[in-house]
Amino acid sequence: MADLWDFIQHFQIDRARENAIDAKYTALSASSQIEQLEQRVEALALTCQAMWELLSRQQDFSNQLLMEKMEEIDLRDGVRDGKSTATSQHCQQCRHKLSDRHPYCFYCGAALPKGQAFQRKAR
Ligand SMILES: [Zn+2]
Repeated sequence: MADLWDFIQHFQIDRARENAIDAKYTALSASSQIEQLEQRVEALALTCQAMWELLSRQQDFSNQLLMEKMEEIDLRDGVRDGKSTATSQHCQQCRHKLSDRHPYCFYCGAALPKGQAFQRKAR
């Protein structure tokens, strides 16, 4: 009977170890994705600041004009959700469908073609 109890305990301990290892890799993956998102946000903030400084020099530029343009872009997909419409592309390496917003493939890590300023990768 003690052997069966030991066997069950060892089985549960092994399962707990496997769960801990899985959780560790999940956390590492999430941490890496957060780091890449932070780099993306920094690149977008830099792009927005540069655009703001260039546009604010224009005589016909105003906050009202900016807000109207933001609303028009938001509504391009028919939904007022405070987001721009994402277009999609396929990874040339693994063929998964991805948003144009991503600088790399979440599935295989391949770099995606660079687009315009808002798709630029942070340094
Ligand atoms: Zn891929």
